[in-house]
Amino acid sequence: MHDVIVVGAGPAGSRYARQAAASGQSVLVLERGPVGEPLACSGHVSRDIWERTPEGTREAIVQNQISGARFHVGGPDSPAHAFYRDETISEVIDRVALDRHLASAAEDAGADLRVEHTVVDATEDATGVTVTARTPEGRAEFRAKILVGADGPRSRVRQSIGLPEPDELLHGVLGFDTSADNGDRVDVHLDVPGFFAWRIPRGEAGVEYGLAARPEADPVERFEAMTDAYGVETARRCSGLIPIGPPDRVTADRTLLLGDAAAQTKPFTGGGINYGMTAADHAARTVDPSDPATLADYERAWREDLGREIAMGAWIRRAYDLPNAVQRVGLRLTSGRVGVHMDRPSTIFSFDQLRAFVR
Ligand SMILES: Cc1cc2nc3c(=O)[nH]c(=O)nc-3n(C[C@H](O)[C@H](O)[C@H](O)COP(=O)(O)OP(=O)(O)OC[C@H]3O[C@@H](n4cnc5c(N)ncnc54)[C@H](O)[C@@H]3O)c2cc1C
Repeated sequence: MHDVIVVGAGPAGSRYARQAAASGQSVLVLERGPVGEPLACSGHVSRDIWERTPEGTREAIVQNQISGARFHVGGPDSPAHAFYRDETISEVIDRVALDRHLASAAEDAGADLRVEHTVVDATEDATGVTVTARTPEGRAEFRAKILVGADGPRSRVRQSIGLPEPDELLHGVLGFDTSADNGDRVDVHLDVPGFFAWRIPRGEAGVEYGLAARPEADPVERFEAMTDAYGVETARRCSGLIPIGPPDRVTADRTLLLGDAAAQTKPFTGGGINYGMTAADHAARTVDPSDPATLADYERAWREDLGREIAMGAWIRRAYDLPNAVQRVGLRLTSGRVGVHMDRPSTIFSFDQLRAFVR
């Protein structure tokens, strides 16, 4: 019997697997695809990420550096309100390569990674967990003391174990233009109900156009309208789900959820790479597979660290649905040089300020 089975070798699962294996646990990772594919992410991250990646990752996967954002209430022709710093705030990375680096680091630490293993069921009992996977050879069963569901927004682990769902799943669409753009500003368009559209310069890798919205708001049609307004034809397209709003419980008797499976994302950007890896570290630090009662320590630790940021992020997101005139005034008053950390809204706002602004 393994100490832990991790389902999903995305950033959250691989980071957890690496840390748990490094502490001497026997870790089995089951991943349905080749690692990192298919792509469904912009890979726009704060520099905190480098605290949790193996040496040499940054040099290998950074595509561009960003020092600010231009917000528009409307399409590309509407006036821009710039928020910026004099130094780099965030970086645009090759997301497929990130997943590969993190998975290799987990293997180097001793984790046993099996690709093309799609988990179809998981159950808990008094002595451990049983996980059933579809493999190239047929079906296989695996046993462990505890189970980590790091299997993304539509988590099969969450469903099999009967843990609650996130509040919402947004639909994100991405398209890529191959013209190089080494600019250091992203564009954000507040003309999508409940969320926004964006343009990210990816250096020599080209330009990314993206949009996320509630599924009923026709994200694909809106995406096409945006790229038409920019006058571009995107060559490559992909899409994915963004979970927003963690459920009240992300642990069961012998199971914990991590990353998108637990909706550990920023409600105001949809970004989840750093939060998922942060939560992975809390899990690896607090959970002892031989003592499932320690799952409660993980539940407490990640919420203490990220709960307030997520709650503030949800308040910021409310501003996306304010009347356009109010948004313009708000942007005009707050734009300019900023000191905010993109993963930590509490570095700039208090709850009272946010509530007052949104109301
Ligand atoms: C359009 C879009 C743009 C985004 N842009 C950004 C961004 O710029 N910055 C940012 O920080 N975040 C961004 N995100 C969010 C980010 O992609 C996620 O928060 C992040 O990938 C979560 O990591 P994870 O490891 O929890 O899950 P995932 O990365 O989803 O990894 C889950 C893994 O589990 C595997 N898996 C799933 N089901 C099974 C199964 N049944 N059996 C075995 N394996 C399984 C999957 O193949 C996958 O490898 C974006 C998301 C979308 C949709």
